[in-house]
Amino acid sequence: MRKILLLHTGGTLGMAPSGEPASLAPGPFLDHLLVQVPELGQLARLSVEVPFNQDSACLEPAHILTLTRRVRESATSYDGFVIIHGTDTMAFSASCLGFLLADLGKPVVLTGSQRPLAFVRSDARSNLVNAVDLACRAIPEIGICFGTHWLRGVATDKLSVHQFEAFQSPNLAPLAEIGAEIQLHPEAGAFTRQVPAGLGAQLDLNIHTITPHPGMSWFAAPAGAKAVLILAFGAGNLPMDRPDLKVFMEDCRQRRLPVVVISQCPYGGVDLSAYELGRKAEELGALSGGLHTRWAALAKLALVLGGGGGLPETREAFSVQWAGEPIRDEVWPQA
Ligand code: ASP
Repeated sequence: MRKILLLHTGGTLGMAPSGEPASLAPGPFLDHLLVQVPELGQLARLSVEVPFNQDSACLEPAHILTLTRRVRESATSYDGFVIIHGTDTMAFSASCLGFLLADLGKPVVLTGSQRPLAFVRSDARSNLVNAVDLACRAIPEIGICFGTHWLRGVATDKLSVHQFEAFQSPNLAPLAEIGAEIQLHPEAGAFTRQVPAGLGAQLDLNIHTITPHPGMSWFAAPAGAKAVLILAFGAGNLPMDRPDLKVFMEDCRQRRLPVVVISQCPYGGVDLSAYELGRKAEELGALSGGLHTRWAALAKLALVLGGGGGLPETREAFSVQWAGEPIRDEVWPQA
């Protein structure tokens, strides 16, 4: 039987019926899991740790680094890892871990639920069983298992507050379709790992994120911002006829702040050459984030900045795949 380490970090899945985070020690939590979902014991030899137990809205970079460290430290003792995580920031954690653990060579499956495990009608049970099953399959992917899909972490976003299919990877086919059978995508596990060496000791999230809307005033990026991420309209369009936007871009240029542009639309991505407005933004220094999700873009920026990188490193980071994240138009054919 495969040995799986289950790291519980909080979120809805482990909540008590009262809505409070359950107070959890690893031993009692494993007992609780095996009482609620005894079939887990038939799938794998499970160990449980609770590195922290909180609503994932309170996630900080230190939590990501803790998870990375625990997985790496125990990599030789386990065949795979399951991380129970709140859904709110799961796509961000999955993106960071997708880069930080790209070379692990073992499955890391993040999961959670929309309803607590303690509820009679809950998606927690099936998500857990599927996650443990996937973690036993020796496919070296860092992904989110939720509802009927396993999705590559660096391509995911949470798209529903309440549906059991809460996550999607809009620009990449799922790693697996989960139905009566688990149907794996033929290319699951096959991606080139090229995260630049030396990154990962720090995540610097001093990133000024802007979601423009029509008529918005453009104020200078706050002091302390190390980079700007703009979720632009459609293919990367911004109202370049606005003088305050030109002043904003010039200010970023003088401060050598990287300005990365991704799309507000989950499907498709940025092509700054598609419209005059995009070309103008590029002339003023905007870097295309292509198909990066906002979470993958933030994770990349945080790693580049955390490693002491600036404008050239950011430009390079957004022009290449680090760990199978969609960056330009090429997407897998549907399986
Ligand atoms: N607020 C919760 C969390 O992200 C939501 C959930 O787990 O579904 O921790």
